[in-house]
Amino acid sequence: MRKFLTIIIIVCVINLINLFAQAPEDFYIIRMDESTLRSLITKGKVDILMKKNGKYYLLVDRTEVRRFLRKGLRFEFAENELLPPVSKHGLNGAYHSYSELERDLIDLEKSYPEIAKVFDIGDSWENRNIYAIKISDNVEYDEDEAEVFFVGCHHAREWISVEIPYLLAHYLLLNYTQDSKIKWIVDNSEIWIVPMLNPDGLEYSITTFRYWRKNRRDNGNGSYGVDLNRNYGYMWGYDNIGSSPNTFSQTYRGPYPFSEPETQAIKNLFEQKNFKVAVSYHSYSQIILYPWGYKKEPSPLNDLLEELSSKMSELIYQVKGNLYEFGQGGSFLYLTNGDATDWFLGTFNIPAFTIELPPVDFISGGFFNSEEDIIPIFEENLPAALYLIEWAIITNN
Ligand SMILES: [Zn+2]
Repeated sequence: MRKFLTIIIIVCVINLINLFAQAPEDFYIIRMDESTLRSLITKGKVDILMKKNGKYYLLVDRTEVRRFLRKGLRFEFAENELLPPVSKHGLNGAYHSYSELERDLIDLEKSYPEIAKVFDIGDSWENRNIYAIKISDNVEYDEDEAEVFFVGCHHAREWISVEIPYLLAHYLLLNYTQDSKIKWIVDNSEIWIVPMLNPDGLEYSITTFRYWRKNRRDNGNGSYGVDLNRNYGYMWGYDNIGSSPNTFSQTYRGPYPFSEPETQAIKNLFEQKNFKVAVSYHSYSQIILYPWGYKKEPSPLNDLLEELSSKMSELIYQVKGNLYEFGQGGSFLYLTNGDATDWFLGTFNIPAFTIELPPVDFISGGFFNSEEDIIPIFEENLPAALYLIEWAIITNN
């Protein structure tokens, strides 16, 4: 027994040394077997990154590590073990970095000056521009056409969520003169696309810590970042289940609603426009979610939300046979408060969707989509995006 205790103490000491020596700021990647994971899951939500060689990899914060150590849970630190294979195209591969997105958006504007215009709608904490591209005929003017909104990258590590809205812009512009349906859509709507809402977090995810989720606010106590998708002003901080008041948490909601320049940029844009529908891309899970997220009861628009997401799911399925399930966020997945879609619906009374892009789960790769996944995921999501724009045009008239 004494020997056993000594071993336990040694393991704890090694873990504690690791805790302070290897820390990428506030978060740690740990590895555990299935039975340990199961005992954790029964006690609440955990941030699973991936399953590899029979082990489960989790992202945890300092408080969680301390709690697991106190409980005597068996786990190991697994820093640097999970990085994806080096890509053909540098660190971020075919995925956009901040400067690559900036360059490509400006190129689109130059190539299609009649129907594309790039706006800087706000600056991040680290002074990067938050770009929106507007696509419409007479793009210089604010016409009385259906305004629609697409946004990606609230969460830094969800790289695929930048590519899908960017490629939507690219597709609309490229096909405008050749495809009469696309021309009709662009001529009769004003499409606003913000592919990268969280440029600081994204850059940090590329250069420093692949699993970074939040923005890069310095919280002043050794922790960084606010979860931008918990910082919106509708039912912000409703409870501590759907968001966290703890600055070290992955779902830290910020000190007050719209405390972050990134969410403030979206707020300003929405107050100037009259959006009819909004889509926020995330990954992973392969599902379509709609408000409410903050509670399990349905919203006043529930029938419409169900109808639109059912149709989107069907359109996605028709492309390659991939099923995106759909449902109300708060009852179907888990509770969230202060998220973008609750604010879109709660404040502007418009249908709003969170599309969690593939893969379906962490066993299939979690946050790592290969470069080869980008185009197929875009192709299957395109008809659903076009359908929502058409819906907005028809209901606007
Ligand atoms: Zn997300």
